[in-house]
Amino acid sequence: MNRKVKAKDRAAAVEFVNKLIEQYTTAVKGLNELFEVAPDLCYKDDGVGCCNLDTATSRKGIVGPARSKLIRQRRSKLEKHDLTPHNACAYHKINEGCILDELKSPLCTAHYCKGELDDTKYGADYVFRMLKYLLNTEARKGNRKTKIESGWRIVGEVLDYADDIKREVSDSGIETSVDG
Ligand code: SF4
Repeated sequence: MNRKVKAKDRAAAVEFVNKLIEQYTTAVKGLNELFEVAPDLCYKDDGVGCCNLDTATSRKGIVGPARSKLIRQRRSKLEKHDLTPHNACAYHKINEGCILDELKSPLCTAHYCKGELDDTKYGADYVFRMLKYLLNTEARKGNRKTKIESGWRIVGEVLDYADDIKREVSDSGIETSVDG
């Protein structure tokens, strides 16, 4: 393989990873807004929040070819914040909650304390599975286009799902809370 072809392949692989990240962060952003509309009872109790996982666990579900870049983006976000360690997870800011926003892992995005959202309507397993699906691919050259196309369908489905839950929370008249 000559140098020109190799460079073209590398550029296509980078573009593919960037698209995966764009899809993933779009889906997480929509789901993360749920933490702003649903009450976080643990946060209210102690100002710390209920996730309280260690930093290694907070990566759970971040897989596939975009993994390294996402981890680097999370670290760079951490460096921008001057956080005092107070919690098991390095990304947790006291009185503010998680600093990661759209860079949260599938596990963290799916995490709600029991009872904070209606368990019969909010499917943590579904959220975890869909987000992991968006990242989980072997990125073979031949399947990139199909993967991106099906990825956008999943993003649309996940955003509709998040909107439905937000509507239900808002219709139920529960008071607005903060990110945990
Ligand atoms: S939600 Fe944020 S603060 Fe909580 S465990 Fe996950 S990464 Fe850490």
